Amino acid sequence: MNYKAKERLPAEAYVKGILEGNKVILSKAITLIESNLPQDEDLSLHVLEAILPFSGKSLRIGITGIPGVGKSTFIESLGNIFTAENKKLAVLAIDPSSQKTKGSIMGDKTRMETLAKNTLAYIRPTATGSKLGGVGDKSRETILLCEAAGYEVIIVETVGVGQSEVSVHGMVDFFLLLMIAGAGDELQGIKKGIMEIADAIVITKADGKNINAAKIARSAYENAVHLYPPSESGWACKVMTCSAIENQGLKEVWILIKDYYKFTNENGFYEIKRNQQNIQWMHENIRVRLEGSFYKDLKVKDCLLDFEDQVRQGILSPTIAAKKLWNMYKM
Ligand code: GDP
Repeated sequence: MNYKAKERLPAEAYVKGILEGNKVILSKAITLIESNLPQDEDLSLHVLEAILPFSGKSLRIGITGIPGVGKSTFIESLGNIFTAENKKLAVLAIDPSSQKTKGSIMGDKTRMETLAKNTLAYIRPTATGSKLGGVGDKSRETILLCEAAGYEVIIVETVGVGQSEVSVHGMVDFFLLLMIAGAGDELQGIKKGIMEIADAIVITKADGKNINAAKIARSAYENAVHLYPPSESGWACKVMTCSAIENQGLKEVWILIKDYYKFTNENGFYEIKRNQQNIQWMHENIRVRLEGSFYKDLKVKDCLLDFEDQVRQGILSPTIAAKKLWNMYKM
């Protein structure tokens, strides 16, 4: 990334633009927050601190599923329902693309075409490039910026192919898993653990020849989720079917999300979860800082390659190598 100081605005300009709901400034602010350049850090923190009192008021929804399950079509249809109710919707599409291939699992800009043109909607693809929850990941901060810009519903979309679902679960209120009928769980790359943390499972593409298969899948997943231990929220995972292209079942999903919101607000879980997530985020931030400081340490840098060599050759045990490096770092 090329840093050009003139591209940065004064903190007040970011804050004012965000609070006015200016999408261009919001995008610039997200770019600033996502920057890992040391010279951007103070400005980022300044902006974040200023908008914090205006954040937190959205309903945060996580949506995951394998490529091709129908995520973008589903989000587009669901998004149209939100915006028809005059709700401002932000979609943060997290694409854990491999840095090696520079590829994008989520495809090109043509995703969610109608929503992209909708003035009430804001779509922001975020290629993490590294693991989600890692150094470059600023999804949580991005949520806060969108909230301050007045977005009432925030969808965090991720491809269900790895650890990213767990990280997304840690930043949203409601976690939705999309599944296709007929494909086995293994085929869908969905681990049981992911199904256990879902607040709802929605079987997509329940239309045409697929309707029956979708119904069968629904009962199978309903039976499966009954066997899970009760969740901390007291909410039992619901299983539904929908067809995004025929606009079937989407309203029901929205009603379900609102039910969840009401349920967890009344039993206090909503606030507990948000607080837990903030604490967890603080610790993740500390871990990232510690890691960065460790690997930047000159004493550590000097010895690291040599230690790696010795570990590779079996001369030094990984545990002892780590301990020695740690001692050097602490010196
Ligand atoms: P994503 O990769 O998970 O974002 O999936 P897409 O939304 O791009 O959809 C993948 C394919 O499934 C596309 O060809 C869509 O047209 C198709 N698709 C999505 N939703 C539906 C649906 O409700 N019914 C049917 N029959 N096809 C769908």
